[in-house]
Amino acid sequence: MFQKLGRKFQQFMIGRNGPDDLARFSLAVAFAFMLVSVFVNDALASQVLMACAFAGVAYCYFRVFSRKKANRFKENRAYVSLRTKLTAPLRSAYARFKEWKAYHTTHRIYRCEQCGQSLRVPKGKGTVKVTCPKCKHSFTAKS
Ligand SMILES: [Zn+2]
Repeated sequence: MFQKLGRKFQQFMIGRNGPDDLARFSLAVAFAFMLVSVFVNDALASQVLMACAFAGVAYCYFRVFSRKKANRFKENRAYVSLRTKLTAPLRSAYARFKEWKAYHTTHRIYRCEQCGQSLRVPKGKGTVKVTCPKCKHSFTAKS
C-alpha cells in the first residue's frame, strides 16, 4: 500500500522541480511568520501574518511541483548567489573569531613595558623571561 503510494509519488515527481534551496527558504519564512503570528495579540495583524505564512507554503509547493525546471533553476541560482553574498561577511567574521579564540587559548599577549610592542607568549610554560624584539628590553611574565 505505502510502497505503491511511494512509487506513484515518484512517478508524479518526474519532470518536476522538487525541493530546492529557495523552496526550503520560503517554507522556513512561512514557519517564521506562523510563529510570530502566534505571539501577536492583534487579530488583524495575526491574520495578515498567517496569510503571509500561507503564501510562503504555497510558493514552496509551487516550486516543488513546478514543471518549468529551467526557470526554477535560474531563480534558485539567483537566490543562492544572493544568500552567499549576504552571508559572506558573517562567515568571515565567524572564521576570524574562531581564529582569534584558538590563538588566545594557546597564547597570551603582553605589551612591552618599555615600548608598548605587543608580544606573544605561549601559555602554560610557567614564568618565562620575555625579550622584546624591538627594544631588547626583557622582563618576566607568567604564561
Ligand atoms: Zn619593547
